[in-house]
Amino acid sequence: DAAVEVRDLRKTYKASGKAPAKEALKGISLAIPRGSLYGLLGPNGAGKSTFINILAGLVNKTSGTARIWGIDIDQAPRSARAAIGVVPQELNLDPFFTPRELLDLQAGLYGVPKAERQTERLLEAVGLKDKANAYARTLSGGMRRRLMVAKAMVHAPPVLVLDEPTAGVDVELRQMLWAHVRDLNKAGTTVVLTTHYLEEAQELCDTIAIVNHGQVVACDATENLLRTL
Ligand code: ADP
Ligand code: ADP
Repeated sequence: DAAVEVRDLRKTYKASGKAPAKEALKGISLAIPRGSLYGLLGPNGAGKSTFINILAGLVNKTSGTARIWGIDIDQAPRSARAAIGVVPQELNLDPFFTPRELLDLQAGLYGVPKAERQTERLLEAVGLKDKANAYARTLSGGMRRRLMVAKAMVHAPPVLVLDEPTAGVDVELRQMLWAHVRDLNKAGTTVVLTTHYLEEAQELCDTIAIVNHGQVVACDATENLLRTL
């Protein structure tokens, strides 16, 4: 079984006000292998966030099928959702909570029993052990992003999905975030990320799907794909 498998996934946003209806996904089919570090590369408006938001249960697809870790998102939406951790683009953290509190809260939301919580290990994994008791408002942008990654991992999902993890981030911080993503992948997590930076996909991902205008226009192992560009 694949980590994520979608067949002929389509999404049309309804027209509202003056905005016409928008066909954001026009029949996407992909199989993301277990253990891979998989990049969805494409320009703004290509449909990357829509794809991720459908997997996250945040947007309803119009048609097609999607399975996460073998679980159909229509047949068992909660189980499917439990199999992924999602790091959204926005850093939406309560400023007056500490990393340790935020991770404990998130673990509670996901029903992770106290004895099974990995709060300390997660803080360590994202390099925030020293900041475990600092208010989120005092953390740098990079620390907040890493905290968002830890938050998405509290229920130990086999698949981690990151939406534009380094958009608007400086070079140094980008390298650091890449290192953390690589470590998580080496530790066994399947990682799916979206990006509009070719360099990011090239450096980080073993497989790349290029998305444009709601369609997959190319998909291959990174080295093969780069040869054809
Ligand atoms: P649907 O009802 O088809 O599932 P959503 O509930 O996801 O659509 O979207 C509701 C509304 O949010 C859209 O009709 C649109 O007006 C607005 N909207 C949110 N984000 C965007 C965006 N990036 N571009 C255009 N409209 C947006
Ligand atoms: P990307 O993440 O690749 O930038 P998106 O999935 O955000 O692409 O958007 C794909 C297309 O769908 C864009 O044209 C965008 O404006 C439109 N869109 C995204 N969200 C909504 C929404 N809620 N309502 C209407 N249109 C939307």
